[in-house]
This record gives sequence, C-alpha cells and structure tokens, in this order.
Amino acid sequence: MSILKLITYPNKILTRKTKKIKNFNKKIVKNIIDMFDTMKYYNGIGLASNQVNINKSLIVININNYKLILINPKIIKKKQIIKTKESCLSIPNKIYNTKRYNIIKIKTKNKKGKIFKLKFKGLISICIQHEIDHLNGKLINNFK
Ligand SMILES: [Zn+2]
Repeated sequence: MSILKLITYPNKILTRKTKKIKNFNKKIVKNIIDMFDTMKYYNGIGLASNQVNINKSLIVININNYKLILINPKIIKKKQIIKTKESCLSIPNKIYNTKRYNIIKIKTKNKKGKIFKLKFKGLISICIQHEIDHLNGKLINNFK
C-alpha cells in the first residue's frame, strides 16, 4: 500500500494534459491500487492521475463503495445542464459553484484494455466530468 503525494494548486502539473495509456501492464495495475489508497486516505470520491503526478489518462472513483476505474475516458454524449457544488482534493478547503451535465455517456477502457461504454447520472456523472477535466489539465477554479 502506497499513499502518493497529492499535487495541489498552483502546481503546473495540474494544468498539463495527460498521456493516453497504450500499454496495459502491471505498472498500470500498481498505479490503480496506489490511486485508490491515496484517494481513500484523503477522503476523496474521485482522483485523476495528474493529481498524484502520474502522467497517464487514468481515473479512479469510489462513491459509497461503488468503485470505478476509467482509462482513456472520453465523454461521447451529454445532456441536462444542472447547477451543482464541487470541491477538489488539489484545491483544499474550497467549494465552487459549477454547472455540469446531469447525464453523460462515456467511452473508456478497463485495466485489460477492453473498450466499453457506460451511462451515468447525478453525482457520479458530475464526479466523472470533474476528473476528466483534470486529465485535460483543467481545474475546477476555472469556473470562478
Ligand atoms: Zn479535483
């Protein structure tokens, strides 16, 4: 078990777009385990790889024990704009008013490299949009 160092604002690592994962090897599995441990340690519900200085398109989510791993995720459909409030582990102790899509459909890969499509609604959808923004080097305080 490894708790990784959390990268916080205004570190420039957070504004860099992450690289797509091409090789699905043991290292990815280790990254995923470390990211879940780190997220749990910091009481987060979602964590993007660049928040722990891993330059790969990788997200882990744990909402009420519903765990999700997203590799090279991409939003392919979105609808219903809603107002919401979000916080970010990389910008501690702040809450931002944001607008997100309530419903999204994403295309992603699992840890074996298999492509699949998933649809989400509500909190998990908001969380995924937040984390995909991270992978693209975009932070929540862009909404200010
Ligand atoms: Zn965040």
